[in-house]
Amino acid sequence: MDHQGSTSTRIALIDGNSFYCACERVIQPALAGKPLIVLSNNDGCAIARSNEAKALGIRMGAPWFSIRHLESRGLVARSANFALYGDMSDRMMTLIGQFAPHQEIYSIDESFLDLGGLSDTGQEIGQAIRHRIAQWLGLPTCVGIGASKTLAKLANHLAKTYPVLQGVCDLCDIAPERRDRALALTPVDAVWGIGRRLAPRLRAQDIHTALDLARSNPRDLRSAFSSTVADTARELAGEACLDWQDHPEPRRQILCSRSFGQPVTRLDDLLQAISRFTSRAAEKLRRQGSLAGTLQVFARTSYFKPGRQHACSAVLPLTPPSDRTDRLIAVALAGLRGGYRPGCNYAKAGVCLMDIQPTHAQFQYDLFAPAEPPRADDRTMLALDRINARFGADTLQIASALHDHDAPWLMRQERMSPRATTCWNELIEIRC
Ligand SMILES: [Mg+2]
Repeated sequence: MDHQGSTSTRIALIDGNSFYCACERVIQPALAGKPLIVLSNNDGCAIARSNEAKALGIRMGAPWFSIRHLESRGLVARSANFALYGDMSDRMMTLIGQFAPHQEIYSIDESFLDLGGLSDTGQEIGQAIRHRIAQWLGLPTCVGIGASKTLAKLANHLAKTYPVLQGVCDLCDIAPERRDRALALTPVDAVWGIGRRLAPRLRAQDIHTALDLARSNPRDLRSAFSSTVADTARELAGEACLDWQDHPEPRRQILCSRSFGQPVTRLDDLLQAISRFTSRAAEKLRRQGSLAGTLQVFARTSYFKPGRQHACSAVLPLTPPSDRTDRLIAVALAGLRGGYRPGCNYAKAGVCLMDIQPTHAQFQYDLFAPAEPPRADDRTMLALDRINARFGADTLQIASALHDHDAPWLMRQERMSPRATTCWNELIEIRC
């Protein structure tokens, strides 16, 4: 849909408040009101913080060992539970999509919604969305509304910052002087797409706030900075010029890699890990309807640990391109066997699928190769994906990916909450 130049454009941005922490609280309500953080893979550092945790002075990215002592002050830490967050996100996005036909999912907890053509006021729609998400999912959100995506983002920031707004800020429905005041209160580096690197250069041009930027001449900005900055200024002035992406572009490469919970020396363990990562990557590949033409497999030791250092990597062609888990695993394992060195403590490994092409493309692969056209509608893979979608991830696996629950390459996740919404064995028990 073309939104360019439209004067009546109304765009909402719905954003989950402390989303990962909020998901943890949904399945463990006793965590409400407590300082709570979520840790990155292998329990390394804080990647999400509740307001109470922020009040304890915990910064984004703070290493766990440096804040662990705050447990004595009530801090609770959880290992990242992406199965839970992803599922809650899916549910939230589905609910939001029911309010208007035109939705763009921007991140795991943010979605734009086109309110054009709806007759209710922004306040009414915003509160209705917040109310439904809170009631159906137990998740807190804020809604920002503006004449462009950049203004909707800014309005959302205001809604989060000022509790008096009760979670909804509608910049389309206030007097121009008040809107200008809101923009003047917003430092330029808080504007979507500006960021810390660009802000000092803008300040040097006497552009300190969102209002300064909105009032700058886009043509001058284009020559002094870039067309992106010029577009941002136009957007702040109320002209919607960013495109809508109803269907996000398929990814051009799919990487699945992990740091191991413990060092891995045995080839068997490495092969297992790589089989697992390749299965994941292949699932993502099929989900976006693509085939991969090249596969890279790699493993390396840690630069920070004593012992023999080693890194191996192999880039292997897939002829013809494929989306079959078994085929990708066979190629990846052959590549890894060739590079593996006994006696090394491997700390990380992964696979990367590249040269990604849509399933329906016509391939010009090796003329002399046996004629085997790519078959994306392969029934085995279809059955694999359907069974796993219905009965839970990993119900059906390729045998080389099977592993014990204490495999050394598994991530350290000592503080993990249950996958309460996606795994039958981990449902929450309620006792009366
Ligand atoms: Mg958020």
